[in-house]
Amino acid sequence: MRKSGRLARARAIVKEIEEKCETPIAKLQLVADDMMAEMHAGLADEGGSKLKMLITYVNNLPTGHEKGLFYALDLGGTNFRVIRVQLGGKEQGVVKQEAEEVSIPPHLMVGSSHVCETLELFDFIAKRLAKFIASESEEFKLPEGRQRELGFTFSFPVRQISLASGTLIKWTKGFSIEETVHSFHLFFINAHISLQVGEDVVAELNKAIERQGLDLHVTALVNDTVGTLAGGRYYDNDVHASVILGTGTNAAYVERADAIPKWHGLLPKSGEMVINMEWGNFVSSHLPLTEYDLSLDAESLNPGEQIFEKLISGMYLGEILRRVLLKLAKEASLFGDIVPPKLSIPFILRTPHMSSMHHDTSSDLRAVASKLKDVLEITNTTLKTRKMVVEICDIIIKRGARLSAAGMVGILKKQGRDSGEKQRFVIAVDGGLFEHYTLFRECLEGSLAEILGTEVASFVIITHANDGSGIGAALIAASNSQYSLVETS
Ligand code: BGC
Ligand code: MG
Repeated sequence: MRKSGRLARARAIVKEIEEKCETPIAKLQLVADDMMAEMHAGLADEGGSKLKMLITYVNNLPTGHEKGLFYALDLGGTNFRVIRVQLGGKEQGVVKQEAEEVSIPPHLMVGSSHVCETLELFDFIAKRLAKFIASESEEFKLPEGRQRELGFTFSFPVRQISLASGTLIKWTKGFSIEETVHSFHLFFINAHISLQVGEDVVAELNKAIERQGLDLHVTALVNDTVGTLAGGRYYDNDVHASVILGTGTNAAYVERADAIPKWHGLLPKSGEMVINMEWGNFVSSHLPLTEYDLSLDAESLNPGEQIFEKLISGMYLGEILRRVLLKLAKEASLFGDIVPPKLSIPFILRTPHMSSMHHDTSSDLRAVASKLKDVLEITNTTLKTRKMVVEICDIIIKRGARLSAAGMVGILKKQGRDSGEKQRFVIAVDGGLFEHYTLFRECLEGSLAEILGTEVASFVIITHANDGSGIGAALIAASNSQYSLVETS
């Protein structure tokens, strides 16, 4: 192909993606409406919607009056965090907090589906917990005769039957237990936690804790969104929802218990129940899906599942970009006559790479050139080509950010808070994508205002609940403590 012909072909491909990814306000409104409708359906019946709308048994959010020493364990991917926090009640707040991050040794992550592997992982965690507690300084005080209590943050969908038990529904974010021998999968799977679908997460951990002879037990099992919600609420009473935008994506919010038809238990005293939406699994005919999304989904570990997540979250954005670049290399020889071999490796291009290209402000797009070279071994690109790469980043990121905003509007609509009630509605947000991808975050915030109108949007506040999920789990353990050392004032 001649040079001018190549560029014209490349332009045409980019133009097509741009059109397919368009998210005008009218479309975002339809997505928000669908989100609201699916929320209703998921609350009505178990299995009533792709949105699981999981009942969390968290009906007591922290008030700020909590007192005492509490622990949290945050199990995400290749590492976990253990946290202890000394709470001093309304006056003193968080008196002292310590955390330790531990990476999980690969032989525990890349497990087979044998039960003993589960035990190994939890034994490993329990051992580290024991060490963490043994190294505790005098400042952390546990009152006489009290057992240590821990909130366990587990960032996957879990079906709960009480605050302190739950079984894994499915793995998301590329976690899987059977696929481990597949080298292709190994390439991008962050970790394999050897826990099987259907197993009781808390029971396994409690057994391991007992084997260590630790005087500690798990009093709350929470999703990271729920932890983030609690962490946000501790500091601000107007936090009513939370969203995670990281490797995966999800949202939780506070629902009226009597607005949950599928809930047949007693109405909690607070009248409220936190719902873990598992919005990553949302799907709607209004989602702007492209051929790249369809093939990514078809070749993923969980085809047909987590469609919203695949358009939005950090696990997938870089991979969508790779797929577009591969097509441009194949059909428009964008990087020369041969297709750069690395470009064919799934998940080689990560969202942080994409972010540093997208945020490149140098006139000659040096960061783009260096990422293309370091990650994909693509050299000698022209400025025009690099500009095109940035343009594609922009298209993919804008779509994800705007859809996230539409999801939030869906929650506001469901709660009747989208039409000018002059009351703050704060959404606590956490996750690496939100925290580190500035253009994503700015677009999200701008789109929210665009969809809601500036008047309404001025009452909808997005706060960054930094690491809220870990401390939030400790706070939930505290506000549901069997010792109820909560201040009464
Ligand atoms: C999981 C959710 C989690 C979210 C963010 C999703 O893949 O299904 O449970 O909250 O990622 O970590
Ligand atoms: Mg963080």
